[in-house]
Amino acid sequence: MLNADRLMVRLVTLAHHLWKSRTTLPRTECLYQNARHEVSERRALARSESKGHSSGDEYHWLVRRNLVLGGLLIFCFHGCATGPPVPTLPLGISLQEICRQYNIQWQFDSVTQVVILSYKDHNAKALVGSPTVLIGQQKVTLNAPLRRQNSTIFVPGDFESKVIGPFGSVRSRIGFTGELANLKIHTIVIDPGHGGKDPGTRGRSGLKEKDVVLDVSERLKSLLQEAGLKVIMTREADIYLTLPERTEMASQSNADLFVSIHANFMPARTTQGIEVYYVRSTSKRDLDEWQRQMNERMFVQHLDAQPSRTLQGIVADMMYQLKVAESGKLARRIVHDVADNAGVPNRGARHCRYFVVRNTLIPAILVEIGFLSNKQEEKKLDSPAYRQKLAESMARSILVYASSS
Ligand SMILES: [Zn+2]
Repeated sequence: MLNADRLMVRLVTLAHHLWKSRTTLPRTECLYQNARHEVSERRALARSESKGHSSGDEYHWLVRRNLVLGGLLIFCFHGCATGPPVPTLPLGISLQEICRQYNIQWQFDSVTQVVILSYKDHNAKALVGSPTVLIGQQKVTLNAPLRRQNSTIFVPGDFESKVIGPFGSVRSRIGFTGELANLKIHTIVIDPGHGGKDPGTRGRSGLKEKDVVLDVSERLKSLLQEAGLKVIMTREADIYLTLPERTEMASQSNADLFVSIHANFMPARTTQGIEVYYVRSTSKRDLDEWQRQMNERMFVQHLDAQPSRTLQGIVADMMYQLKVAESGKLARRIVHDVADNAGVPNRGARHCRYFVVRNTLIPAILVEIGFLSNKQEEKKLDSPAYRQKLAESMARSILVYASSS
């Protein structure tokens, strides 16, 4: 009885520590920061190269130009009633209808012809007669100008993706209808496969797995961060990381979930579709694996408790039960949702023994987003729009999973 009581107390204490007391080792922080540093340097360089003049100035210039052009047009219509017929262009989609769908507030100033859209802290400004829209300080150019007929303002077809996409809430964009407040996941490790000297697989047209999966992972990261999750990337640049390093980053972080992203290859070039891998059961050999034992030691060292072999054993058991149950649940959801949404064959949630999946202590999956060996699928994976669609489907699945009991 006494032993059972003591064990129960330890389990409760441990459960508390598991969720509250994990920290990150400096070496992992260093790897992560190095990757971030490279990306931020590249972005800073791109920003300084593309800087011409401020978009705010351009916006004000456009307002003035619109007023002058508006005056000229009124003058012409008054004076040239018998002028050549004005070609009729398709008016586009009603702005009022789009705002209603996405629950976005809007105002229109009939003097300046300026439309202001607002959602929470964000705002966007557009001019009737101009294809330019300012989202905060960022300028977006549409395929056609906004038009007005009576009290209705019409926007071109790309307004939804270019303006509402970055501007609207992540929930409405990815179609997640649940609540973000009570998610069971707070931190996720996203692991873009391969990198650096290891390109992974390669399509016939030369598309490399390491590049495709990094892009999809970055998109997934942005969506999940916007939804309020903390995201740790194993790499954010074209750098090489060993498989043990990837699992160690998960063990030393405060993460609840590990998602590794890869692209697939088959000698039979007709094969296409999505597969998601997870660990269904682990053999004694796997449980005794050196890397797993190492990750368990790292994990226990960061608990607010005296590390011991007994504690390590209890932790390993608890983590294992949780990992097996939750990994399968998420794998089945993601493979179903992404296949459905992307319109590709569902090749199922499959059991595997991949190193990064079996040696991470937290629930872990490996998503094979498509076959680079298949010509059509390679072409799709080369498209940013398709990669965004994959990232949005995965983000929605992860959020639905995280909001389930
Ligand atoms: Zn791979």
